[in-house]
Amino acid sequence: MDALDKLSEIFKKFPGIGPRQAKRFVYHILQENEEDIAELINAISNIKRGVSICDKCYRYFENKNKQMVVPCPICSNTSRDQSTLMIVAKDIDLLAVERSRAYNGVYFVLGNTVPILDEEPHKKIRQGELLYRVEELTNLKEIIIATSVNTEGEHTAFYLNTLLRPYKEKSGFKITTLGRGLSTGTELEYSDGDTLKSALENRH
Ligand SMILES: [Zn+2]
Repeated sequence: MDALDKLSEIFKKFPGIGPRQAKRFVYHILQENEEDIAELINAISNIKRGVSICDKCYRYFENKNKQMVVPCPICSNTSRDQSTLMIVAKDIDLLAVERSRAYNGVYFVLGNTVPILDEEPHKKIRQGELLYRVEELTNLKEIIIATSVNTEGEHTAFYLNTLLRPYKEKSGFKITTLGRGLSTGTELEYSDGDTLKSALENRH
């Protein structure tokens, strides 16, 4: 495989990137000067160094003090409401909700969605970690399932509802989903602040 194909194969593995876009990235890099390419290589090789995964919500966050395992700034912020837990599929969804400034509870990042007809859904998401977190939050009043409004997102919400039902019966918290202010097919990460705000206000 030549160098052009090799690099475009790597870009093709990125979410949402097809073969033509992958090629476009490769040609873009070819037109960059040495300095920009060095900056890109440097940024890629440093990405994992200053970043940790939170042991409460499982999101990635900047952590200069990598030796110390600490919760992320959201989980360790005492003014955030620990009785409301929002479950999102990806880090990028969490960022969209934070940007809307409409939510002051805590989060859990599943890491993925559950595909329909999947035979081992518990392996697709952070299921054990979620259940541990739900039990750890002893004062939990509400779990908001905030998945995207598409087939896989809805299926994931259904799966989580079933999974969490015994915990809900035991602890008495309620389970809600975002209101349909979000139109069908909407990916959470692309929703603007006002839309997310009204979807949160209209949760049920
Ligand atoms: Zn966290």
